[in-house]
Formats: sequence, C-alpha cells, structure tokens
Amino acid sequence: MQKTDLMDKIVSLCKRRGFIFQSSEIYGGLASTFDYGPLGVELKKNVKNAWWRSVVHHRDDVVGLDASILMHPKVWEASGHTANFHDVLVDCKKCNTRLREDHIQDGQCPKCGKKEFTDGRAFDLMFKTTIGAVTDENANAYLRPETAQGIFVNFKNVIDATHRKLPFGIAQIGKSFRNEVTTGNFIFRMREFEQMEIEYFSKPDEAEKNHQQWIDTRFNWYMDYGIKKENLQLRPHGDDELAHYAKGCTDVEYQFPFGWSELEGIANRTDFDLKQHSEFSGTDLRYHDPVTNEKYFPHIIEPSSGVDRATLAFLVDAYHEEEVKGKIRTVLKFNKHLAPIHVAVLPLLKKNSEIVALAKKIKQDLQQDLVCVYDDTAAIGKLYRRQDEVGTFFCVTVDVDSLSDQMVTIRDRDTMQQERVSIAQLRQYLREKLF
Ligand code: ATP
Repeated sequence: MQKTDLMDKIVSLCKRRGFIFQSSEIYGGLASTFDYGPLGVELKKNVKNAWWRSVVHHRDDVVGLDASILMHPKVWEASGHTANFHDVLVDCKKCNTRLREDHIQDGQCPKCGKKEFTDGRAFDLMFKTTIGAVTDENANAYLRPETAQGIFVNFKNVIDATHRKLPFGIAQIGKSFRNEVTTGNFIFRMREFEQMEIEYFSKPDEAEKNHQQWIDTRFNWYMDYGIKKENLQLRPHGDDELAHYAKGCTDVEYQFPFGWSELEGIANRTDFDLKQHSEFSGTDLRYHDPVTNEKYFPHIIEPSSGVDRATLAFLVDAYHEEEVKGKIRTVLKFNKHLAPIHVAVLPLLKKNSEIVALAKKIKQDLQQDLVCVYDDTAAIGKLYRRQDEVGTFFCVTVDVDSLSDQMVTIRDRDTMQQERVSIAQLRQYLREKLF
C-alpha cells in the first residue's frame, strides 16, 4: 500500500466510523482543528489513562496536577515565550509556497526544488485573549502554549503539600494552544491540542542520569502499548536545534505515513525555569535539601508528549488489511488497553426474541466493568467486519443453542478463533483476558 493511500484510508475510516471529525465541518471546517467522535473519545481517553497509569500510579516518585489554561501574563515573560515563541516563515520565490524555515531540507523548496526564499518573518505562536470587560494592555492574557508552566508555578505548592524529596516529578495532561502557521497532516499538527507532560525535579548532579532513564522509559512505553519497534526511533537534537532553555533534548519519533516525525521530546531544561520564575515572581523556588541543609534550584527533565500525536501513531500502527477468503478484512489491532470497545454482543438471529433478550441481558451484565456495544443490524459476517474495523477486542455471539446450553461463542479479533464459554463464566473470562 502506498503511504499516502494509508493516510487517506485512516482519515476516511476515522470519519466514517466516528473516531475523528473536521471541526465545524458544516461551515466548511476550521483548519487544523478536529473533534473526537464517539469512538475517538474512548481511544483518546484510553491513551491518556495508559500514560497516567504508567507515569503516576505505577511509580512512587510522580504526583499529578491539573493547572488552569489561563495564567498570569508574567508567566510567559519569565518562561521566555513572549520574546522567543515564534516560527520563522519564508516564501519560495518561485512557487510562493510558505514554509517554516527550520523545516527546509538541503536549502530546497520541497514543492518546486528552487533554492531562493524571501527573508524570514517571525510569527507569534501564542493565542492572545483579554480577561474581563476592559480591553486595555493590563487585560491581556494568553491561552497556554504548553502545560509545563502550570507545573513550574505550582512547584512550591506541591512541595509544601506533599513534602516530596528530590528526585520527584509532577505530571499533567491538558489542552495547549498554538497558532501554528504550517498546517496539515490531520491531527499531527493542530492549533488546539492536548499534551501529557512530566516535569521531573532532580539534584543537579543526577540530571544527566535521570534524563537517560526517562528517554528509555518513554521509548518503551510506546512499545508496551503495541507500537512496533521498527516504527520508532530516538533522535538526539543537534546543538543548533535546542530551545533557549535546554541543555539536551532527544525526540521519540514515529514513522508516520508522511515520514519520521516527533511524538515526544525529552529535554534537560536545567535550572532555567525555577530560576526565571523566582526572579520574575519574587518567590524563592529553591529546594531546601534536608540532608545537606543547602538551598538550590533543582534541574528539570521534561518528557513532553502529545495526546493527539500518540493517538494518531496508535491508529496508524494498528491499521491492518488482510485477505480472508478472497476478501479484504480491515482490522485495527489495538492493544487491549487502548481498544475503544472491549466487547460487542451480537445475536445470531435478530428475529428470535429470546436470543435478542438474552444478548441484551448479557450486555447489561458485561457493561458493569467493560465497554460494550450491542448490534443486530446486519448478518453475523458483516457484524464481525464492522467490529474488526474499529478494533473491538472480542465479539460474543448468542445463538439458538445458547438458549438451551447457556453457552456463547467468543471470537478473538486478531486470530478470528472462536471458543464456547458458559454465560455464567463469561464476565470473569473476559476480565481475565482484558485486565
Ligand atoms: P514541532 O517541532 O513538531 O512543532 P515542538 O518541538 O514544537 O513540535 P514541543 O514544544 O516539544 O513540540 O511539544 C511537545 C509535544 O507536544 C510534541 O512532541 C507533540 O507531541 C505535541 N505537540 C506540539 N505541538 C503540537 C501541535 N501543534 N499539534 C499536536 N501536538 C503538538
């Protein structure tokens, strides 16, 4: 399959089956904004839960936070965003294509190959807004372009409330906004998106070691949830690419149909952030080391990932087309923790009211702790294909025999193997397979 075809197929499946829609579509759409439909919202929630479980619940050294999107405008002065957060854009002199200067490869326009560009112009990436009724200079605020700053400004609150000792981390999931100037590639680059970020506070002399540990941990996380190793790579940044605050940064990249691109950046931000916020706010954000009795600024390691980019990578990696009995079966082979639907309960004969009643009763029971759907709107072969296409982990079929032997057929999405299981054991059986 051509890679561009693959992307088209995924975009089309996402719309057709209710994963992802263009925002404001009935008005012609709004560029680089997307809405998650009934299945997309489940998938995205599962991605966030998988991340939270792994970086907060399964560890002893990370706590959570949910800071607000609107922050004091001085935050963005201290962070350097007001001065530095822009993209430099150039236009190709031959075909007028507008490009981000840092995206040009070998000095050539990717569209026409010419090597002549206009001078670069800076575009501010932050969305400005005003707070309150009066719209003067003092009312200016920004929609946050990253969640990280909410963590830094709460560093002292978290220490005071939890008495954490170094090293420890604060994790947060939330919306961020960037007035991106180059758009496209579906949910890869959006103007409103979600981030999953950890700020890990280290003793200065342990920062390098912690940086490497987080690079390894985060790389493995994508594989733990099903991404094939050959589609992942680590890319350390060159010195010329590093953000003004960073000492080192390594990206986790995924081989998307449009090429290797960043899923997550893991940066060593040194003591830049806490120093800056101490200076701008006048609040001392140094850590008091209880062993040495010294006060110093912790160094920060930041694994920063995008919920939407991760969701897209999981979708692309799960997409399979297989030939079964001369027909193409499309199947999303999601990891069991990410599949939007655990179980579909399907009656073999929708005209038999006893079968339908039993199937609905089974669904009622299973949905206490599993995500279930019931469908009787087509013949069984078609119902299976429908569930395969959205990655439903198991199908449970209720047939005439079920009425007498109180057994149902369970079909595995990936192997298509079928097994008879008693209704009394069904919930426990599925729980064991899925949790
Ligand atoms: P890029 O170079 O692709 O613009 P970035 O290096 O500016 O990305 P970071 O500032 O490191 O991105 O943000 C951390 C993570 O947030 C990224 O790895 C990505 O997963 C996500 N992210 C950033 N910008 C966007 C966006 N416009 N749409 C979706 N996700 C984004």
